[in-house]
Amino acid sequence: MRDALKQPRRLRAHSRLLRRTIAAGVLACAAYAGLAAANPGRAPNEAARAGADIDVLHYTARIEPDLAAKSLRGEVAIRFIVRRQGAQRLDFDAGDLDILAVSEDKQALSFEKIDKRVSVRLAAPAAAGSRHEIDIVYRGAPRFGLEFHPERSELYTVFSTSQWLVCIDAPQERATLDLTVTVPEGLKAVGNGRLVSKSALGGRREAYRWRQDAAMPSYVYGFAAGRYNEAGGTSENAALRYLSSDLQAPQLRRVFADTPDMLRFFGRRAGIRYNGSYSQVLVAKTIGQELAGFSLMSEAYGREVLDDPSAQALIAHEAAHQWWGNYVTCRDWGHFWLNEGFANFMAAAYLQHRFGDEAYRKQVEGWKRRLDKLRETGKDHALIYEHWTRPSADDRAVVYQKGAYVLHLLREELGERAFWGGVRAYTRAHYGHSVVTADFRRAMERASGRDLGEFFARWVESAEVAARPAAPAK
Ligand SMILES: [Zn+2]
Repeated sequence: MRDALKQPRRLRAHSRLLRRTIAAGVLACAAYAGLAAANPGRAPNEAARAGADIDVLHYTARIEPDLAAKSLRGEVAIRFIVRRQGAQRLDFDAGDLDILAVSEDKQALSFEKIDKRVSVRLAAPAAAGSRHEIDIVYRGAPRFGLEFHPERSELYTVFSTSQWLVCIDAPQERATLDLTVTVPEGLKAVGNGRLVSKSALGGRREAYRWRQDAAMPSYVYGFAAGRYNEAGGTSENAALRYLSSDLQAPQLRRVFADTPDMLRFFGRRAGIRYNGSYSQVLVAKTIGQELAGFSLMSEAYGREVLDDPSAQALIAHEAAHQWWGNYVTCRDWGHFWLNEGFANFMAAAYLQHRFGDEAYRKQVEGWKRRLDKLRETGKDHALIYEHWTRPSADDRAVVYQKGAYVLHLLREELGERAFWGGVRAYTRAHYGHSVVTADFRRAMERASGRDLGEFFARWVESAEVAARPAAPAK
């Protein structure tokens, strides 16, 4: 640990900005909650979710957005294994997309769009373990999920993947992705995984094709394209890219000056070094989102960091998701705190490493204040949600801030060595897989040699009712 910052003036400015970034941290990735809300009464009920009968292996997709018209056409081949003997009707998440055709081996299949899903009927009941690949052609004009900004020649995805790609939204469904996106000539684009090719098409268009070789949940699929300025760097063996239409390369280098150190720091905490490339894109407007191999933040936030390099909580939060969220993923949204509480906590741990104990303490105090408010208003909740149907702002505070606060308490309880040893063991054991809260508890118990039943019962599995003042005697 480092000594607290000692310059009062700098400290005042620092805490003002931290307050702002705490607020940004609350909102970061709030779009996930929208995903859960899109399935009222279903998530996280396993049997009722789209894709429960299959295991998706791979998507090969081609998206052709029309920037001016704010619409798209798409085609996706979904390769999967059937898990249930005799399954014939299979559901996929399809948002508000219009499905034009579905086929397998060029044979048309019947389908029906019901609410946000497309229900496809295979030609015959499938055997458990059989492999299939179906092709789906669709079009749409997403109101969210894919943002179009023709006035600045920019477009980028915003989490709700099934608004631009027919897929399985559920976080436990991991698959590889081969994505081709056509964009107007001259735009720079970022996507998941490695760039396979960039080729000129007719009509002043270009096609970018990326390949995501590590299986990922579909909510971290995406792309961004715009007239970006670019700077770059390296962190150990990772190539780094910083992009923005607004800021110039020297400014981008300043905004993201700590990214190499950040990735090294999280890599040590995870026990797994960052692998591949990592891009950070400042886009027109967003609350901040992690995707596989890159993250999106707003230009306004980039300018804030330019003014005060210590306002990095959100940059760190999104970078931390490259481990906790993307590779170690909550099995369903009911265990979402394992993504978001972790990202918030890890961001604070980075601020402590970079700026000292005071920066960490400010974050902890912010979480504690929010938890106190939840309790005063009777809105506290267990970190695990059994039936999370319509997450409220208070629910998000539970997941993001109480979640981070509980990790802080566990750190205090176990001490540095056992706590970080447990985090490393947990991350390494579940890297590339889905997790539930019990997986985390088991890893922490093993690392500390303690039964954490009482701690988890109090802080994770239940909500504490605020002590109410005694009613006045009548
Ligand atoms: Zn997040």
